[in-house]
Amino acid sequence: MCGQGNTDRFAKAHQRMLTRDLMGRDITDPEVLRVMGEVRRQEFVPQAYESQAYADSPLPIGMGQTISQPYIVALMTQELHLNQDCDVLEIGTGSGYQTAVLSKLVKKVYTIERFGQLSESAQAALGRLGIDNVEFCIGDGSCGWPRQKWDDKLERMVEWQPQFDRIMITAAVPKIPQPLLEQLKEDGLIIAPVGGTGVQELIAAEKKAAHITKRFICDVRFVKLLGEYGFEE
Ligand code: SAM
Repeated sequence: MCGQGNTDRFAKAHQRMLTRDLMGRDITDPEVLRVMGEVRRQEFVPQAYESQAYADSPLPIGMGQTISQPYIVALMTQELHLNQDCDVLEIGTGSGYQTAVLSKLVKKVYTIERFGQLSESAQAALGRLGIDNVEFCIGDGSCGWPRQKWDDKLERMVEWQPQFDRIMITAAVPKIPQPLLEQLKEDGLIIAPVGGTGVQELIAAEKKAAHITKRFICDVRFVKLLGEYGFEE
């Protein structure tokens, strides 16, 4: 399954990640496994951690932030039940690894990162991989995707109401931010680590008839989402 494009010194570790850390747990979606086999995690970790690129753990990426554990990336992706018609909003671009995985399963990914430096290196990594269905934004993702965009015809900024089929929050939130629930389409799904600093509950929430139903998936540990609807700095 792996091998595809990773016939280098990482191939064995990449294959072990797929069979032991993903399939050996509860990752069963063939499309998620295919993409986890396709996206090379070594492209997203700092050089100093390259030898640990397929470790079953998060790794530092600078600015006090981390690239998520591969299993958690796969699990959150699987829980979103994605398809090629989906527009996905990701809060917390980080290294861009999760962004790259999402981009291969959906129509378009909109991703927001608080640190310009992380967003820029994620943009460079995705550019090197030829991924062109991702829009990047630097700012406070707890407030959702910006409600103003450039109109080419009018040659000025115009108001719009962004709406997404799926939303993934990749940092811990005290509760799911209201602006994100508002930007979720009817029948849409949002996944987020919810709770305090330390351990959080990974929650999948579905919007049906403007009502939100929440489902507990498992306990997780994420860095904090800082911002207006996240934690205070
Ligand atoms: N999924 C990412 C990856 O694979 O590399 C890891 C994301 S990391 C666990 C969480 C990210 O959320 C960090 O890069 C952090 O800077 C970002 N973040 C924290 N608060 C944020 C906010 N209010 N808006 C956008 N990004 C935020």
